[in-house]
Amino acid sequence: MKFDTVIIGGGLAGLLCGLELTRQGLRCAIISRGQSGLHFSSGSLDLLTRSSEISLDAALERLAATEPTHPYSLIGKTAVLACAHQTEALLSECGIAMQGSVEQPHQRITPIGTLRQAWLTSEDIALAPEKGERIAVVGISGFLDFQSHLAAASLRKSGANAEALEIELPQLDILRDNASEFRSVNLARVLDGGNQAQSLLAALLPIAKQYDRILMPACFGLQDNSLWRALNESLPCPLSLLPTLPPSVPGIRLNAALQRQFIKNGGVWLAGDAVTDVSHSGQSVNAISTRNHGEIPLRTRFAVLASGSFFSGGLVASRQDVSEPVLGLDVLQTSGRENWTSRDFFEPQPWQRFGVKTDNALRASLNGQPFNNFFAIGGVLGGFDGLSQGCAGGVSAVTALYVARQITELSGEQP
Ligand SMILES: Cc1cc2nc3c(=O)[nH]c(=O)nc-3n(C[C@H](O)[C@H](O)[C@H](O)COP(=O)(O)OP(=O)(O)OC[C@H]3O[C@@H](n4cnc5c(N)ncnc54)[C@H](O)[C@@H]3O)c2cc1C
Repeated sequence: MKFDTVIIGGGLAGLLCGLELTRQGLRCAIISRGQSGLHFSSGSLDLLTRSSEISLDAALERLAATEPTHPYSLIGKTAVLACAHQTEALLSECGIAMQGSVEQPHQRITPIGTLRQAWLTSEDIALAPEKGERIAVVGISGFLDFQSHLAAASLRKSGANAEALEIELPQLDILRDNASEFRSVNLARVLDGGNQAQSLLAALLPIAKQYDRILMPACFGLQDNSLWRALNESLPCPLSLLPTLPPSVPGIRLNAALQRQFIKNGGVWLAGDAVTDVSHSGQSVNAISTRNHGEIPLRTRFAVLASGSFFSGGLVASRQDVSEPVLGLDVLQTSGRENWTSRDFFEPQPWQRFGVKTDNALRASLNGQPFNNFFAIGGVLGGFDGLSQGCAGGVSAVTALYVARQITELSGEQP
């Protein structure tokens, strides 16, 4: 099997990179071992959290001055902005409707009812309430991964007029025998399956007549937003959803939509397989071996590492150090395990910035020598703290498209 590019990891970064490469007509395979960060995430993407007084331009310039190893600083402000805009266009082309834009960051409501700045948020997810809006935060009886009282109390603290209510959905009783089955994804499997709009409508209608907006947990819409749209058309007030504790229905839907489009574009999707080795001659990668295709390596002109952070096994910690398990690439890390963490749990944690070291072109390196045709993107990269800097999804999207653009250009030059 011969490819222009083989991508290791099919999360947000790998999929966006693969989508762009297949759009450009390049032959591309994605090998992905298991679930990605999106399966657990909020479904919102953060670009770079900043106060409202500072523009994104200024925030990126400040970052370049203070944090030269941040992936945004490596590729530069112009590329970050261009790739962020390109992400918006690409998602829209895939039929993924998002609220927000580079120019218009917004506040979204978290599962516990607090507000958090975001770049892009799925169209069904609730943004900060309007002043004076009467909001019903509606839980589902027996569903513990969303606490309507907690969310309503936090919303009231931020000045909103919110009340907690609960609905009974007897069609979910089949899941109640086992409390561990009563999770958002299993609820969605029942609620997405035919003719549920009427029963949901019947439960929500009396509430909708008394409030300006209903918020309820995101536990339907695994494949698309059609049920949410149908409910919104029939209810007298808008219905918005709130992400639940993981797993995440909006995140899984985003992952599935990107994957569908990648396959539609002609991409080869090798799910449930794991890359075990990357062969290279000097600084040029030429083949990738996987667990399921041990004897027939995938030959490739370019390779991209999009294997995520610790959570996805893209980075591994031992007692002594942190390593990249596929090839043992160079990793940015602080030495001495005692320096990996801050004593205050709520402070930014140094280990969050650990990850693969690259040059400005995002080419990974081994023993200090950058590869010619092996790039790293997304959560596996070092130099950033997605949580405290509010840039996790943004780094995945921006670096994915930055590398896709380089591979496209280099493919045109090389035979
Ligand atoms: C609970 C939670 C909430 C979040 N909320 C937000 C948020 O609000 N905003 C935001 O911007 N970001 C958020 N994030 C972060 C965001 O989801 C991640 O930054 C992003 O999904 C990372 O994408 P990635 O493609 O780089 O890596 P991943 O999503 O980690 O994907 C890596 C993939 O590579 C595969 N893989 C690993 N090793 C191999 C191998 N050897 N062979 C084959 N495949 C391999 C893994 O199985 C996985 O599928 C959240 C994350 C979590 C977990």
